[in-house]
Amino acid sequence: MIYADNAATTQLNKVAFEAMIPWLLDEYGNASQPYAFARKPKKALAEARATIAKCINAQPEEIFFTSGGTESDNWAIKGLAFADSDKRTIITSAFEHHAVLHSCYAIERLGYPVVYLIPTAAGIITAESLRNMISDTTRLVSVMFANNEIGTIQPIEELCDVAHSNGALFHTDAVQAIGHVKIDVQKLGVDMLSASAHKFNGPKGIGFLYIRKGTNTIPYADGGAQESSYRAGTENVASIVGMAAALKENCDGMDGHIENIRALEHQLLSALSDAHIPFARNGGDNTLPGLISLSFAGADGEAILHRMDLAGICISTGSACNSENTEISHVLQSISLDEKLAKGTIRISLGQGNTLDDVDKIVCALIKILK
Ligand code: PLP
Repeated sequence: MIYADNAATTQLNKVAFEAMIPWLLDEYGNASQPYAFARKPKKALAEARATIAKCINAQPEEIFFTSGGTESDNWAIKGLAFADSDKRTIITSAFEHHAVLHSCYAIERLGYPVVYLIPTAAGIITAESLRNMISDTTRLVSVMFANNEIGTIQPIEELCDVAHSNGALFHTDAVQAIGHVKIDVQKLGVDMLSASAHKFNGPKGIGFLYIRKGTNTIPYADGGAQESSYRAGTENVASIVGMAAALKENCDGMDGHIENIRALEHQLLSALSDAHIPFARNGGDNTLPGLISLSFAGADGEAILHRMDLAGICISTGSACNSENTEISHVLQSISLDEKLAKGTIRISLGQGNTLDDVDKIVCALIKILK
């Protein structure tokens, strides 16, 4: 089996797995209890929070553990909308992940105005498009760090500047990007940032929301006093420890990983060109390492996916959440991709486990299917 769907999920890092074991077996105490047996898990949570904060240049108390990207996005959007404010408008983009889009639809049904910015054909939300729509009623701007289907990295620092200079807050869904490209919340200036461990070789069902100190939001879950009373519920210590270990591993080795994955990406694209397979790469040059969205005019992306599956290769047609849906994804629609190209689109997402041999086999299988 060749796994080339790392944007859907990644393999758990061995260091992260080993870091998790003690908290699953022996050190199972509830971190909120006052006795000695709870002290170690409590300390482990504090250390994990500090490790994660350091990776993105935040303060530990600005990191709030959640169950993953979906929860972090829901909290960012709804928490800000429902916090007291005269300002009610939210601006987001039309090609966000459904975790953001559906949260926006939910608050729209409650009467909050939402504006959806349209990306350029190259898959970028420009500062100019934000400047045209922002007003003094805008409470929050939410634009993803990198798109999960076409990989385009957004000009977050610039967009954040526009939001702040108009008195609005800024959230970014960095689920696809964190652990794969450098992220510094001070440099970016963002007020909130969503992350999910299973996208950076951590365990599934765990993530975090960075909330800049002083941001006026409301608790995501009411109950116990965990997460400074902002997200109640007994902490998943093992997964939190695994998430911190995975993020540290990825951040420490980032330059080397990027170099390797870019080399694989280059090999894949040049082998396809050498084989005279006509294709268009969506998203252009400024994309996440290894995320390759390819369109083959007149081909059927679904059929390619299934034939690749028969050859033992996992790829995708779009985001994991869309794979059952044969319609053109909202992302490809938002960049106005020609229907013939859109229907023939696949997403190959290479990760740390992939090799040159994998790439050769992926290309051979594609040539067989497309020639
Ligand atoms: N945001 C983006 C950009 C994603 O790609 C995903 C998952 O595919 C999510 C949010 C949801 O994250 P999770 O699977 O942790 O709920």
